[in-house]
Amino acid sequence: MSDRMKIMPFKNLMEWIIDENNTRKSIFGIKKYYKADVKKGFNIYKEHMETPIGPAAGPNSQLAQNIVASYVAGARFFELKTVQEMNGDALAKCVNKPCIKAEDECYNCEWSTELFMDEAIQEYIKAWVLLHFVSKEFGLGASDGFVFNMSVGYNLNDIMKKDTDTFIECMKDANKHPIFNECKEYLKAHINEYSNFKAEDIEKIPSRVCDSVTESTLHGCPPAEIERIARYLMDKKGLNTFIKCNPTLLGYERARKILNEMGYTYIAFTDVHFENDLQWNDAISMLERLMKHADELGLSFGVKITNTFPVDVTRNELPSNEMYMSGKSLFGLSIKVAEMLSTVFGGKLKIAYSGGADAFNIDKLIDAGIWPVTVATTILKPGGYDRFYQMAEKIMANVNGIVSFSGEDVKKVQTLSEECKKDKHLIKKSLRFKQNKIKSKNPLTDCFMAPCSNTCPINQDISLYNYYVKNNEFEKALEVIYRTNPLPFMTGNICAHPCTTACMRNHYDDHVCIRGNKLVAARNAFDKLIKNIKPVASNGKSVAVIGAGPGGIAVASFLSREGYAVTVYDKEKTAGGTVANIIPHFRLSQDEIQKDVEYAKAWGAKFELGVEKNSVKELKDKFDYVVLAIGAHKENKGGFNGDDKCINAHKFLKDFNENNGKLDIGKNVAVIGGGNTAMDSVRAAKRTSGVENVYLVYRRNLLNAPADEDEINLAIKDGVIIKELCAPESFENGNLKCKVCKLGPVGSDGRSSIEVTNDTVDIKVDTVITSIGEKVDSDFYKNNGIEVTEKGLPKLSALLETNIKGVYAIGDGAMGASIIVKAIANAKLVSVAISGKAFAGNELPNESIESIYKERAILKERTAMCCHGNVVASENGVGANACGAQSVGASSAIPNDASRCLHCNKVCETCNEVCPNRANVHIELKDGTHQIVHVDSMCNECGNCAVFCPYDSRPYKDKFTLFTDENAMQDSENDGFYYKDDNTAVVRINGNKSEYKLHTSDEKLKKLAEVIDTIKDKHRYMVF
Ligand code: SF4
Ligand code: SF4
Ligand code: SF4
Repeated sequence: MSDRMKIMPFKNLMEWIIDENNTRKSIFGIKKYYKADVKKGFNIYKEHMETPIGPAAGPNSQLAQNIVASYVAGARFFELKTVQEMNGDALAKCVNKPCIKAEDECYNCEWSTELFMDEAIQEYIKAWVLLHFVSKEFGLGASDGFVFNMSVGYNLNDIMKKDTDTFIECMKDANKHPIFNECKEYLKAHINEYSNFKAEDIEKIPSRVCDSVTESTLHGCPPAEIERIARYLMDKKGLNTFIKCNPTLLGYERARKILNEMGYTYIAFTDVHFENDLQWNDAISMLERLMKHADELGLSFGVKITNTFPVDVTRNELPSNEMYMSGKSLFGLSIKVAEMLSTVFGGKLKIAYSGGADAFNIDKLIDAGIWPVTVATTILKPGGYDRFYQMAEKIMANVNGIVSFSGEDVKKVQTLSEECKKDKHLIKKSLRFKQNKIKSKNPLTDCFMAPCSNTCPINQDISLYNYYVKNNEFEKALEVIYRTNPLPFMTGNICAHPCTTACMRNHYDDHVCIRGNKLVAARNAFDKLIKNIKPVASNGKSVAVIGAGPGGIAVASFLSREGYAVTVYDKEKTAGGTVANIIPHFRLSQDEIQKDVEYAKAWGAKFELGVEKNSVKELKDKFDYVVLAIGAHKENKGGFNGDDKCINAHKFLKDFNENNGKLDIGKNVAVIGGGNTAMDSVRAAKRTSGVENVYLVYRRNLLNAPADEDEINLAIKDGVIIKELCAPESFENGNLKCKVCKLGPVGSDGRSSIEVTNDTVDIKVDTVITSIGEKVDSDFYKNNGIEVTEKGLPKLSALLETNIKGVYAIGDGAMGASIIVKAIANAKLVSVAISGKAFAGNELPNESIESIYKERAILKERTAMCCHGNVVASENGVGANACGAQSVGASSAIPNDASRCLHCNKVCETCNEVCPNRANVHIELKDGTHQIVHVDSMCNECGNCAVFCPYDSRPYKDKFTLFTDENAMQDSENDGFYYKDDNTAVVRINGNKSEYKLHTSDEKLKKLAEVIDTIKDKHRYMVF
């Protein structure tokens, strides 16, 4: 496969647009058509744009189809990808692939256009003609409602050379290139096929494509050269000119400080570019001169804030030494440059903007007088170009009539610059954010799946229950949940929700509140559902379970549902294990925990509580099966065993619950750890009578902590004092001595390593609580003749059976301290082993494709609180609902957070959305299924689709690929096909080539044969 894309002939572009619009109501995959109100808009350099937004010079403004896709979705200002003397093959050799990584903040190692100069000219002229066609034919706006802005680089000598000069001249007058006429001739020849676009419209297409230019220079370009280029472009080319500025204008110290304040401490860069790039004082005097000069010439002049920011590759992000940062991490830098310039020039310097703009902030930028705004990162993420729609709607809702530049509102720019440091959409939330991908290659057909379900240890039908919750069909939702999960209350309250790390919604705003939606279903439907449950007929088999924690209750539910007589024993008087006895009671309702027990009882399970069972043999003699769910409760105090003022977290939390927080642990308490139990402990300590100060002592920083982000935020809001980068060494006489740590290089897991320094810090506390994991009591197993591993865990078969037949072990006691849902997964596995039933679900929601499309590409705040359903204020005033979001109500469900679900198992198409070039197309087969086909000639191997595919796979390499011909296939290793002639396709699967006679069923190819037939019959224009 070649990393060189081809430009698409105008004919194919036109056929593609018309066919896709007629058959799918989309254009290059864009489903939301933005229809402009032609009475509104923005004037810029005597031109008019119906919205002040568009793609930034980059991967999204390189090809004609990219520009059309942007326009259809709502863009009206197009900053064409930069051209320079080095282009085509010569440039391609310098750009390593993949070259884009937009997973959270964005990095790239690409450059100017990868097309040859003449191809770039053709693409921009074709796009210019296409927008005139599309705007009229589909009624999307006025033919003069959009603006093209060319971008040239990188030094005056090159800009004056023939190739770049020809480019500039052709942009000023498209008549200078034959493609302009060829496009018009094509339209004339087909004019009868169009509904609204008429012959006279062809003649109205202006030959002047661009009146304006953005000057782009390389880092280190001397100020005099920057000024010379600007003067040349204005004086000799008569162009309205914007100079692209670098964030390095801020100076190293200021840039570093802003990035640190926003959590981007790990982004590494030196002061080299800061020293070599344009300096602040030089910039100001140069801009003053150029503003004056432009005024004299009657031209517009301004700055483009900002270029991307060069940083070091430290985590193998891209195959390069240096890469360019953009997106949310650039916002703080760009807006600071804007603020400083706006302040110096009193708001009179025109500022075009790029740097982390998205639907959450774009209206504020425009409102502050900063426009046009171009974007790249946000439209490289799922939703893709369709994200323009929301941005356009949001901006234009606040616009009345036509806006002309009247200066920035300096105060508003300053506010934006200050507030961005606290904006949750812009700051780095967690270093752990890394999409949890499904560890397999995406299949050639039918690849859509819900990664949340695949990541969930019990594979819950999340998409399906979200669908029912969204529609307030709570009973159906709860029935779906019970198929795989008998503990909806426990998991709905406090599941560690690994599903959320795979949720595709993370790429928009925040994960769907998956466990909260479950709790909504449980709270609203349990009472009705439980009434209808009757024990099923006995199958004559019996099961004893030791331990009434989550694993034990789950086994009891699964197996009693299948007619087994299950008895659960526990030495505690209350069923629920850790959830009931250790998790602080202010976090979840004890009544709700018991509803999960009630469910098991309703099916016939018996619970004998306050009864300690230590003999497995005794039980095995009486029951057919024995399941050991003993938990991990052996105290672990790390190296602090000697001091009686040092207590283990589990013991503390148990005492806290038993005594309603009335304990004597002094005024000052430190909790050591960074996991969820540590967060429970600090929050419980904060609520303990007499306690004034609670310290969370952790050897890393919180960005690297394993605790759930919601839990950390709750602890912070409770007023816990965070002592990051402190490694506790000793605790003597009320003094917790810690070694100061610093962050070292980032490892391949994305976490910073820790370097312990010789500096120490003392924390004066009365009590230390250690939260460093509990141990399994292996004596229990040994005493019962159960073999254990070196770690003291029981030796188990794949189905969790011990060396004693019919005796199984599950949960923390089998695998070491872990999360509840893994204990349920164990319970399920053992229940499957005993009963032969699957306890699985895999059903698609009945959501319409149209509704799913409507939800895609729309950024929304997560309004629901996912962390707790039942937070109550404590005596000492530590507050309820501390995370500030709405709690899960019994009748007033989460304000439909479930509607944020994208139902990825029904529609994914993510690789289609995020491809700047539209090289992953989705086609519909006769059976109604949507399939993804990769079009080799449109792909430049940027790698963006691989970043977002929920599989650990690369769609541009792993999806079924359409090749233009034999040579293209030879150039690639992809599975795929090309049309040898009108009746035959050559197909390659796993390296084996064969011929397929079109429209004949092929046993081996199955659906792939249908894909080949469909493209030939309906989408021939894809072959070029
Ligand atoms: S958007 Fe919905 S289906 Fe997709 S991963 Fe998230 S919860 Fe699952
Ligand atoms: S198919 Fe993937 S690698 Fe190819 S251009 Fe599109 S996003 Fe980039
Ligand atoms: S990103 Fe593309 S290849 Fe991956 S699952 Fe989604 S549709 Fe399939």
